[in-house]
Amino acid sequence: MANDETPTDGDVSRRDYLKFGGAALSAVSFSSVASAQSSNGRGNGNGNGNAPDDGGRLLIRGGTVVTVDPDYGILYDTDIYVEDGEIRLIGDDLDANGADVVDAEGSIVVPGFVNTHLHTWESGVRGVAGDWTFLEYLDKMLGEISSNYRPVDAYLGNLFGAVQQLNAGTTTVLDWFHIANSSQHTDRAIDGLEDAGIRALFTHGPPGDDSAKWWENSSVTHPDDIRRLHEERFPSDDGLLTLAMGIRGPDYSTDEVVRQDIELARELGIPASMHIGSLGSGGVSKLDELGLLGDDLNYVHANRLTEEEFALIGESGGSISTTPEVELQMGMGMPVVGEAIDNGAIPSVGVDIVSNVSDDLFTQLRMAVQVQRGLNNQPAVERGEQIQDVTPTAHRALEIATIDGARALGLEDEIGSITPGKRADLTIIDGDDLNTAPVHKPVETVVFQAGIANVDTVIVDGTVVKRNGLVHNPTAQNHLDRLEQSGRRVLRQSDI
Ligand SMILES: [Zn+2]
Repeated sequence: MANDETPTDGDVSRRDYLKFGGAALSAVSFSSVASAQSSNGRGNGNGNGNAPDDGGRLLIRGGTVVTVDPDYGILYDTDIYVEDGEIRLIGDDLDANGADVVDAEGSIVVPGFVNTHLHTWESGVRGVAGDWTFLEYLDKMLGEISSNYRPVDAYLGNLFGAVQQLNAGTTTVLDWFHIANSSQHTDRAIDGLEDAGIRALFTHGPPGDDSAKWWENSSVTHPDDIRRLHEERFPSDDGLLTLAMGIRGPDYSTDEVVRQDIELARELGIPASMHIGSLGSGGVSKLDELGLLGDDLNYVHANRLTEEEFALIGESGGSISTTPEVELQMGMGMPVVGEAIDNGAIPSVGVDIVSNVSDDLFTQLRMAVQVQRGLNNQPAVERGEQIQDVTPTAHRALEIATIDGARALGLEDEIGSITPGKRADLTIIDGDDLNTAPVHKPVETVVFQAGIANVDTVIVDGTVVKRNGLVHNPTAQNHLDRLEQSGRRVLRQSDI
């Protein structure tokens, strides 16, 4: 993957190195190559993950398996046998058959989380926008910071952003890329996801270096470069990375542009995702008027849509990405998990931007579901009554972060539940840590008690990318200080 944009040691002065070296990503602990090797002495496989070199066979032994598959439910003291990246068997005392054995006794095994909205590139400017309003964000992030990203910054942002998603137990992400300032930016961002070893929908959006042109009632159609990507970088929809289109949609572009962009996505046969309803209502009604609604559309935020518009999304089979922490901070409105569920739209959760908020789905899911409970409870509170039940339930919440997320991205046949025949995307959570023990109800433990520190092992497509609490990714480990260098330079050059 190395090319002339890959940072080299020459980019970093010794002084800078001493000051910043190793400080980036302190939340991620990397394993050395030696310690990442499996306990049975078999070595590292290909790629960045710790794939077994024993025919791709993996046995996850003795865990509490929360399948999120209604046919299997929750299985205790159960084994999962994986071969060639596929879940082959779930059962008791399965034959290891020479497989690399992952001990899951005392742990909870869940489907890898699906984060349906992340601008991964922003990991280099993590935490700068914790007090910003939405308009400030549009002005500073998309008007200024985004124009100062170079291709190498896009690479580093996506690499480390995606590695941290894996560290946090998220195995699939929709990466909404809106700094397509050049084809090099785009290519390097895709390289970053590839080097991270995550499953992702790379969602190609507009450039970030002339934001007014692209975001203020834009009359410019989607960049043609997406045709090149479709032909050259995503010739098939197999593999960990697939292509989607990040359109501006009716809140940010003219009717004609909306029509042409959605028609282009449909011509290419890829889904389209748009930010909508965080400034006001009417966008979905407009799509209806233009005859463009469909089950290939993903709506991000959607806070201020009308009841009629939620119904239109549900009837057309669309999905909604709720990013509660950002929405609550930046004045978009209340998260709409309840509206999605009530109207038959596919609910899902995302992080959105680590410039502002936490990047793990534990936090986002917990916030989404507890805010929704508060909203559901409030009418009774206002009547001076006591509530009769609590909704959404913990189980419904876990579905939203797994199988519904997969449905939102059109991947429900491949991932989202622990089901024989699906790809092996799994997250194993320690059940014997101080904040998780004792486990009485595994789903409640995962949804309301656990966090990043409890993520022991993460598996993507049968490849172990985190084990014993340590991420294994030599590419990221070798560039630990680069993200910090990149982020500091971008901010230095930005007038914010
Ligand atoms: Zn967004």
